[in-house]
Formats: sequence, structure tokens, C-alpha cells
Amino acid sequence: MPSAADNPYRALPSVDALAAEPALADLAGEFGPELVTRLIQGAVDRMRSQIRERDLDGSAVRARVDAGDLVRDVQAAVARERRAGVVPIVNATGVVLNTGLGRAPVHPEAAAAMAAVAGGYCVLEVDRESGKRNRRDDRVGELVGRLVGCEAAIAVNNCAAAVYLSLQTFAGARAAVLSRGELVEIGGSFRMPDVMSRAGVRLVEVGTTNRTRGADFERALDTEPDVAALLKVHTSNYRVVGFVEEVSPAQLAQIGAARGVTTIYDLGSGRLDAPGTASLDFLGDEPDVREAVASGVDVVLFSGDKLLGAPQAGILAGKAEAIGALRANPIYRAVRLDKVGLAGLEKTLELLLAGRGDELPARALLTASAAQIEPRARALAAELAGLPQLTAEVVGELSQPGSGSAPDVFLPTFCIRVVHEQHSAEALSRALRRGEPPVFARVHDDRVLLDPRTLLPGDDARLVQAFAILTGA
Ligand SMILES: *Cc1c(COP(=O)(O)O)cnc(C)c1O
Repeated sequence: MPSAADNPYRALPSVDALAAEPALADLAGEFGPELVTRLIQGAVDRMRSQIRERDLDGSAVRARVDAGDLVRDVQAAVARERRAGVVPIVNATGVVLNTGLGRAPVHPEAAAAMAAVAGGYCVLEVDRESGKRNRRDDRVGELVGRLVGCEAAIAVNNCAAAVYLSLQTFAGARAAVLSRGELVEIGGSFRMPDVMSRAGVRLVEVGTTNRTRGADFERALDTEPDVAALLKVHTSNYRVVGFVEEVSPAQLAQIGAARGVTTIYDLGSGRLDAPGTASLDFLGDEPDVREAVASGVDVVLFSGDKLLGAPQAGILAGKAEAIGALRANPIYRAVRLDKVGLAGLEKTLELLLAGRGDELPARALLTASAAQIEPRARALAAELAGLPQLTAEVVGELSQPGSGSAPDVFLPTFCIRVVHEQHSAEALSRALRRGEPPVFARVHDDRVLLDPRTLLPGDDARLVQAFAILTGA
């Protein structure tokens, strides 16, 4: 039987003793004592499992503790803690609208407007002339109206909220008709049939996966009880090609108007060719917001932070009567946009109306040509190739718009293909993500690819700095 002195568990220091170690003593000031205790307890528990699994004796444990194993384990947990949360990164993936990476970067003037109202008071629901209460999105409604030609508009938290609000408002406890070709799932958990049932809407499916006609909607209106809305959803993240037929928004609007039911068109991205801005025609059949509104449907829904290039928002634009009904729904209060989002959205819409849409980062990145990108790729490759253990070469590649916009559209670009003498591509890209600043790259054919398309002003230098730290240069 081992003596008490040999008991390996007795060789473990107490949590308090570890917390007092010079290397860890300042952490309570940064994270609070409770979290520090939890991180230390975690390290001690991991050492306990090692004792069990490897049958360590007291002297082996003491040797590890004296060598600083526990302190290092706590420091690794602290490093993970410091990396947690929403922090800026360098996006070198070439995917312009990446939901995981924050979608559209906003214009610096929009960012400044957002910061200004975030850190202070603002005019939100007050009329400056009379001092009386007014509505928070009157201005957005006016700006969207001028931009897309609708009678009225409101803004909510995102397009998903816009879908929910409009279904609940117009078809709650009743039924809505949707083509089987448009029963989409957006980004994981947002499935149209599930959203409808949660909004209390009975889904009436019509047509087939590849072909749906106006007559299918007419028949549903004739035979199904309680139909209150006709819905059209843009198949943002996939395309059906070949023998395909769909009901146009104009045709849907006509049927809805004739039968007295509301028509809703969810565009998702919503392409907007504003006056004086480069055309986004290269995005193919991504529907245009202005055309969608002009088709006569009652409400058009689109995202703020996809092709519009604004902060996260969902915009509902359409007929005054329909927008009035949406505004009157108490659910609107639960999903409306906050002052920060409103400030950024208003500024973005103003820039578009002023003919400065090409300055919006998301649009500028999307429209950048390969010829514009190539010199940046060459300059970066030259700098990276000068770092120890790295080789870097420029290769012709393709970028993607992303965020479920135009899944069949690829944008010619030039990437830097980076190889590290010791790290695999996966290891290098992981080190980059964990680096300072964090860099997100593409991995293709076991090579790390850096696409300058998504680098914002100042990012080129930050990217080189991240590599310099990583390679110890
Ligand atoms: C992206 C998308 C949504 C969801 O928009 P969010 O702004 O992400 O909430 C809804 N419908 C369609 C068709 C989309 O493409």
C-alpha cells in the first residue's frame, strides 16, 4: 500500500495556491475571481484524469507541477478566453458576404454614425420640431421609398424577422400558398415550412420542384379553405436548372389582387442598381428590389447586410396599406430595428441615393476586377515570401459573393498561395485564425489561399503583420 506521501492526488497544489502563482496572480483583475477559479479547477481536474489514466505516482505529479504544467494549462485556457467573442478579423477568404464573418462591412460613414448613436443619446422617436413622439423608422421608410419606388417601408432585425412578421400578420391562424420549388432552407435552421408553422400559418404547397404555374395558385385559392396570402421566396442558395417554370412576381400580384389575398415576395439578398453605381448585373438572376416592388406584390422583403451593404436588418417595402398592417402587429415591437442599426441603415441608404453606392465596401469588393486585384496579390506575395519558412506565389482563382447570393456566380481573382515549411495547410490556417490579428483564409488542395478581394483598407499590412508574428520574423 502506498504511503500518504506517495498519494499522487496529495501532490496537486490547491486552487488558491495556484491562483497566487506570479504568472496567474493578475488574472482575477482581468476576468474576475470566479472565472479564474473555474479555469484553474479545470486544469487541476485534467491533471487528475491524467493521474487516473496513466497511473502517475506522487513524484511524477510533483515533477509535472514543478515543471509548470498546470500553470501552462491555465494559461492556454486563458488564451482561449481572450480569443472568445465578437472581435475584428482580416477576411482573406474572398467570400464577400460571409454570415460567419459578419456579412457586409459597412461604409466608414455608416460605421461612424452607428458609433455616434451607440455611445450617446439620439433622436429616435421624437419629432425635433414639435418635441412630440413620432415613429422610429419614418426616415428609413422615406429613404427606401425614394430608392426602390415603394409607397412605404419599415425595418426589422433581419430578413428572417421580416418573413416571420409578414407571415404572422397576413396569414396568422390562416393559410399561405407557396410553390414546392421554393420551400427553401436558409443557413441551417431557417426552413420555410417550419417558420410558417411557428407563425401559425398553414402551408399550402403547390406545383412541383421544377415547375409551378399561375393555375396552381388559382386552384389552391379555389379548393383550400382560409387562404390569406400568396408567398414567393427567392431560391437564394441553390438553382434549379433545366425544365423549369416559375410564377413571376407580376403574375402572383395579379392573382392576389384579383382574389383579395396579400402577396409577399421574400428576395433574400435583394439586388439594387442605384443611380450612378456600377451595375450588379453579373450576379445573374439575383432579383432586383426595384423590379420586385414594381411587379405590384404587396410586400417585398430583403436583407440589409447582404447585397445592400448596410448593417444587419430586414427591410419590408411595399404598399402603404400592407406596411400599415405590419406596423400595427404587436410582434413588430419585438423584432424592430434598434437605434444603432437604424443609424447605419439610414446612412447607407443616403449614400446610395447620393450616387455614392460604389463606395459601399460590399459593392466595391464584389465589383473589383481581377486586374485591380492582381497588383495587390503580387505586392503581398512579395512581402510574405520574404518571411522565414514561407513560400508565396500568385495564382488565378475565383471568389464568391457568398451569403446565399448567386450560388452559381464566381468572380475572377488572384490569390496568394502560401506554403509553410513545417505546417500543413490546415495547421497554418488554424494558426492564422488564432493569431493576432486573426486571419481567415481559404484552404484548397491542401494549400492556404489568401484572396485580396475581401481585404479592406489597412488589411494588407495587418495580414503581413499576422504572418510575421506567426513565423517569428
Ligand atoms: C438570407 C435570406 C433570408 C434570411 O435573411 P437574414 O437577413 O439572414 O435574416 C430569408 N430569405 C431569403 C430568401 C434569404 O436569402
